[in-house]
Amino acid sequence: MKGLAAANLKMNLTGQQTLSLVKNYIKLIKKTKQDVVVCPSYTALPLVAPVIKKSRLQLGAQDVFYEQKGAFTGEISTDMLKELGCRFSIVGHSERRNYLKETDELVNLKVKWALKAGITPILCIGEDAYSRDGGESFSFVEKQLKACIAGVEKKNIHKVALAYEPIWALSTTANRRDITSREITQMHNYIRKILKDVYDVMAAAQVRILYGGSVNEQNISEILKAENVDGVLVGAASLDARKFARIVAAFDARK
Ligand code: PEP
Repeated sequence: MKGLAAANLKMNLTGQQTLSLVKNYIKLIKKTKQDVVVCPSYTALPLVAPVIKKSRLQLGAQDVFYEQKGAFTGEISTDMLKELGCRFSIVGHSERRNYLKETDELVNLKVKWALKAGITPILCIGEDAYSRDGGESFSFVEKQLKACIAGVEKKNIHKVALAYEPIWALSTTANRRDITSREITQMHNYIRKILKDVYDVMAAAQVRILYGGSVNEQNISEILKAENVDGVLVGAASLDARKFARIVAAFDARK
């Protein structure tokens, strides 16, 4: 299975700033064999789309709505994203769950809608420090994952990319903590087992499980020692083209 490295640029760059970052990505990732996706702000999508056309880079959005058209002020549809060449969209990011109170039910609608439209949802799940310290991280992730993929048929689950992003390890979390490759292995193996229980071994094996949480050019080789890491979702380090390219290169170098 090909690796997937996705850059979540969040609300950090203007269109022009995104463009210059992306041009540097393109130069640095020319030889990669992985899927590499950049998820800029909506306003940058039409600028980036023509520039990446002949490159290894693919386009993703940071969110998507679960209706095609109508009175949904401020939202964006799958048709609008597809018109710009977006093939991926992050859904259920912890920042949206936190600041915008997105629920598992809402995220589930987005996952199903994206799949129907042919957009790969990069579905974010992960517990906060409170759950982790209370020994509830596995039950939390299980409940969240099952709720977010409810109703997704076995034949479609391989089209979902799952991103395990423990909130306590994100670079933007106050008093954040480092995760160990053992902890990543434990959770990613558990996620694979949940998928096996809900679907079957074959279907579970085809789902890409990404890790996200302060991934950078220095810790990537340690992270890649963990089991069941099929990709990464990168925040802060993706704002530096060299750092992001080194992360991508680490996947290419993996045996
Ligand atoms: C994220 O918030 O999706 C993320 C991966 O951020 P960071 O890499 O900065 O922890």
